[in-house]
Amino acid sequence: MLELASLKELLVQPKHIVITTHHKPDGDAMGSSLGLYNYLIQKGHQVRVITPTDYPTFLQWLPNNPEVIIYTEKPEESQQLVATADLIFCLDFNWLSRINELGEFVRAAKAPKVMIDHHLEPEGFDDYRHWTINACATAQLVYDFIVNIMGECELINKDVATCLYTGIMTDSGSFRFPTTTAEVHHIVADLINLGAENSRIHQLVYDNFSESRLRFLGHCLLNKMEIFTEYNAALITVTKEELKQYQTTTGDTEGVVNYALSINGIRLAALIIERPDKVKLSLRSTGDFPANEICKKYFNGGGHRNAAGGFSEEKLETVVSQFKAILPEYKTLLIQ
Ligand code: 5GP
Ligand code: MN
Repeated sequence: MLELASLKELLVQPKHIVITTHHKPDGDAMGSSLGLYNYLIQKGHQVRVITPTDYPTFLQWLPNNPEVIIYTEKPEESQQLVATADLIFCLDFNWLSRINELGEFVRAAKAPKVMIDHHLEPEGFDDYRHWTINACATAQLVYDFIVNIMGECELINKDVATCLYTGIMTDSGSFRFPTTTAEVHHIVADLINLGAENSRIHQLVYDNFSESRLRFLGHCLLNKMEIFTEYNAALITVTKEELKQYQTTTGDTEGVVNYALSINGIRLAALIIERPDKVKLSLRSTGDFPANEICKKYFNGGGHRNAAGGFSEEKLETVVSQFKAILPEYKTLLIQ
């Protein structure tokens, strides 16, 4: 692993830089990527953000969003950019499988890879690393990178501040998850001072639902949620027909699982969705219950202790039965 501080010298001369982030990017993925983008362009670099897939409309207002390339829309151009880059930043993920087909092009690229991330157990494809699971968001680590490693707090302009605020806000559950330390609040205060319009950002991200998304949420909560009282667990199951019926688009299922977790006493909430190619699971938990352990052990996934995900190639009904069958194993932890 190379010394992160040596990037300071490397970034003195203008470079061709690619920033990439995980499949189905969320607020932290886009906020940290565009935050870093808006910082690097001020230093005269040629920068491109490449996402493996599309992402929700409620993130498409971020400063310089039109500059983002979506791999699935422009695979050849993306591959060319990755192959000819001088430096590749990998943000908010630490396994190349998280960026789908793009992963093998990044692996093969001659450019050094800089990983900035806060997920458990990195794969080890990176040359430079700014990583800790104690950060509430990758955007927090990008802030730290700019301010403390590059020593360029003066380059956090309104655009950078807006992006980083969005990343921290979304990944910290609006500043309420346990990783939201006093230091995070200091950073956020700094970002507001530097131009992030906190109230406007909340509105753009959270009050931006389409009618169909809200009705879909209503359907999930009223008709599709099961509560397992003896395990303090909740489950919402969604079929592909329902996704179609409510005309859901990318991002419409995001956050649905949190409603189940907000029920008094629930320690584990799961959302199981039948996607066209596979069944996807999203798990959320409270306290020290290891949602990521279940995803890793049974569903080819992982994540954070309180927010994890995975998938299965089995049929929806099979995955649902599997999930229910796992609950007794965790009963002691769930009823604590
Ligand atoms: P979500 O439920 O929002 O899809 O994912 C929550 C968290 O779980 C993500 O931030 C990511 O850390 C993790 N995660 C989701 N899906 C996967 C997966 O398929 N593999 C791994 N390793 N982690 C996942
Ligand atoms: Mn994140």
